[in-house]
Amino acid sequence: MKKIIAFDCDSTLSSIEGIDELAKLTTPSIFQKVEKLTNLAMNGEIPVQEAFSQRLKLISPSLSECQQIGQLYLTHIEPTAKETILQLQEKGWHTIIISGGFSPCIQPLAEHLNISEVHAVPLHFQTNGSYQSFDTDYPTTRDGGKPQIIENLKAKYHSKQFIMVGDGNSDLETTPHVTQFIAFTGFVSRPTVRQHATHQVSIISELIPILESSKHLH
Ligand SMILES: [Mg+2]
Repeated sequence: MKKIIAFDCDSTLSSIEGIDELAKLTTPSIFQKVEKLTNLAMNGEIPVQEAFSQRLKLISPSLSECQQIGQLYLTHIEPTAKETILQLQEKGWHTIIISGGFSPCIQPLAEHLNISEVHAVPLHFQTNGSYQSFDTDYPTTRDGGKPQIIENLKAKYHSKQFIMVGDGNSDLETTPHVTQFIAFTGFVSRPTVRQHATHQVSIISELIPILESSKHLH
């Protein structure tokens, strides 16, 4: 695989944030606590990994709740994503999802987009479908998770080009590890992410001309 393009999921391939939607399925007081933990982590007051495990403990998503969120990802899909990903695959790009979200929630969207390689946090359920645990060793449960996954993929595929597309700080963190980081601003537009990106797009289909025009650079 010479050319790899990796997409963030939440607020990029779909407009929703899966963890927020899962929290909304609980009670208002749990939702508030989850929101508070998210803000503390975003302000750097507690480590990302601590917020991650505390939020999951509070939400304890069941398999059926994850399936509900899976449907929400699909109904809120970025309108040009499917067609663009198909075009990229026809042009020889290996398409991947790299997400700090949960694998059982993201899988239906990945299947709809014909993306077979998904790097997201695995969840474990009891046999009755209730929540059991998450994979605490998984890279995207902490800071620097996406760069680590990218380094593993570069070594595995010996890729010549690696493009990352996303809206958040965890996507921006990949910049030193990729050929180009492209900011996606269609749902959330963060000034810091935009400023440091090689390019920015507000719809996924805008990626095609950017990748075509930068071909000669590589
Ligand atoms: Mg995102």
